[in-house]
Amino acid sequence: MAPQLPELASLTIHVLIDNELDPISPSPNPLVEQSGGMKTIGLNGPDLTKDSSRPGAARELRMDHICCSAHGLSLLITGTSPSGESHTVLFDTGPEDSAFERNALRLKPDLGAVETIQLSHWHRDHSGGMLQAISMIQSSKPPGADPVRVDLHPSRPTYRGLQPPGLPVVSLEPDPTFEAIEQAGGVVEKHDVAHTVAGGAFMVSGEIPRVTPYERGLRFGVRYVEGGGWVGDEEMADERFLMCRLKGTITFLALLVKGAEGWVLTLAFVGAGKGLVMFTGCSHAGVVNAARHTLDLEPDVPLYAVMGGFHLADAEGEQIAATAQDLKALGVKVLLAGHCTGWRAKFEIQKVMGEGGLVPSFVGSTFVL
Ligand SMILES: [Zn+2]
Ligand SMILES: [Zn+2]
Repeated sequence: MAPQLPELASLTIHVLIDNELDPISPSPNPLVEQSGGMKTIGLNGPDLTKDSSRPGAARELRMDHICCSAHGLSLLITGTSPSGESHTVLFDTGPEDSAFERNALRLKPDLGAVETIQLSHWHRDHSGGMLQAISMIQSSKPPGADPVRVDLHPSRPTYRGLQPPGLPVVSLEPDPTFEAIEQAGGVVEKHDVAHTVAGGAFMVSGEIPRVTPYERGLRFGVRYVEGGGWVGDEEMADERFLMCRLKGTITFLALLVKGAEGWVLTLAFVGAGKGLVMFTGCSHAGVVNAARHTLDLEPDVPLYAVMGGFHLADAEGEQIAATAQDLKALGVKVLLAGHCTGWRAKFEIQKVMGEGGLVPSFVGSTFVL
């Protein structure tokens, strides 16, 4: 089957919200460019060349230019085609308006370029910055530009919460309503099946099939149903991922080969095959289930990278081990783990995938794949 997604020449991801901040550690993988750390912030700081109190200093590294971490996720993703055409999606919006605003002002991505906001699932740590994001995106667009589309699953719970055995329900704050999103200036689009967005450059999944025996949803998850009270909702069926297709890079190598006529200089090319890149919000459906489903949607393209929250922070050791092994078996090359992945799972992924297989996602980073 011919792939449905076009090949992108490059993919740039600005991490607007994530749980972890580390502006010092470099990318451990030469195929994943990472910037936005202290060096970038310092070299882009205020000009000091005319400051006579600090002769010889060129720039000031300001602490208030560093993004702040928050529990949640928001990724601004731009795919560029081989002909130079770019399309941008904002994947989730983090937990609160102030966190989105602060980091967007510090990281300064091109918000006006966002064509679509996709919400991965109805959970406040992904939807809480939505109204602020719409407002900032709309005010960054030129007059007359199309308003931002907001791609949502139609099944919005009135409330979501958690109820561990023997404890009362703890409710999350409500997600923004469809009406509030429209009032903020977004154009609501409701989808529960796979479809493409942003000029066809990206695909949003439908419901993710639950296949593995060890990925069992969000433990103790509940939702409030009008007239029905709190009901079990561990499956979180509204969760959807985002994916796109990245072209491989070809590197030429000059080789000296010894033949019958003596040493000959030949050119060989090494295809660093890339493929699908999948973004997952919280992986309540299971990151392995989500990874497998990318290959249902695009069966003839390998899965190159997975980025986002893998929700393993409170998982049993067996599940963490099975997840790392199964992602490796699926042929994934890079795991940009963040949000709810947890340090134990990141450690296990590093161990199983080897050097460069884990690229931790830090807030304030810009990754180029
Ligand atoms: Zn969630
Ligand atoms: Zn989450």
